[in-house]
Amino acid sequence: MDAVSIAAPREESESIDRRARRLAQERVSVWLLVRDIALDWTILLVALVLATPDHLALLPFCILVIGVHQHALSILGHEASHFTISKTKWLNDAIGNVIFFYPLTVTVSGYRRFHIQHHLKLNSMEDPELPLRAGRFYNSPMSIAGFAAMFIGDLFGFGIPSLYRLVWASRPTSVRDAAGLFVFWVITISAVIYAHQQFRLAIWAISLGTAYWAVSRMRVWCEHTSSDTTNRHWQSPLVAYLLFPHNNGYHYEHHMWPYLSYQKLPIARAIDNSRPVLAFTELMRSFGTRK
Ligand SMILES: [Zn+2]
Repeated sequence: MDAVSIAAPREESESIDRRARRLAQERVSVWLLVRDIALDWTILLVALVLATPDHLALLPFCILVIGVHQHALSILGHEASHFTISKTKWLNDAIGNVIFFYPLTVTVSGYRRFHIQHHLKLNSMEDPELPLRAGRFYNSPMSIAGFAAMFIGDLFGFGIPSLYRLVWASRPTSVRDAAGLFVFWVITISAVIYAHQQFRLAIWAISLGTAYWAVSRMRVWCEHTSSDTTNRHWQSPLVAYLLFPHNNGYHYEHHMWPYLSYQKLPIARAIDNSRPVLAFTELMRSFGTRK
């Protein structure tokens, strides 16, 4: 069953918006942002160091860890597309590109062009995300066994065409935008060859085409699929870490107030109770009966 919409009275929704705008004016913690970036990149680098041809048995685990944290980077890159990393636009985009999106072969401007239309045209025929959510991998209803098969298939690289479509939809917006991505990868590949780290670069690419996309698709499913707007749900800390990092599980609140930093979304949830919040397990089971 879909979440039931209960329209809030007008005065109440105005008061909710006023509280959200007040929340937006409160400071974002630079320390928390630095901690989140440092944690994601430290885990990525440790997993890359452990990924060697000498320890083949460890490789699947390394690829899983790398994919999960590449996905975490993409969630912070999504923040940059909303200008919520820094109030200084050039700094926001520089961090978004170099630290989050360039390593995933995407640019902030390219993703922003695609993603802002998704916000403006949510679930309509003009929503650019809709064609990416079409096809047999997004057929409703979907059982838990269907999700398991999809996830395992993505872990083996069957989602690469879908990933390619997303990267193409988010392609750079200008020659200058493309040049930044190109220079980043020229420098990265040169450094990799100089340091004889081609094997680890291959592991990075394999993680993107497998574990990264497996986790991304599960998250995308839970955002808007089989809903008139956005699914509202809560998860255990472990599920949140693996599938909905950096408060991405508060996606309903993100669509209500896209100008709010990810740090403030848990507070935003508390100011609006007009829609019920399903448990993640309940949401997944409900996909088995939704159209
Ligand atoms: Zn967004």
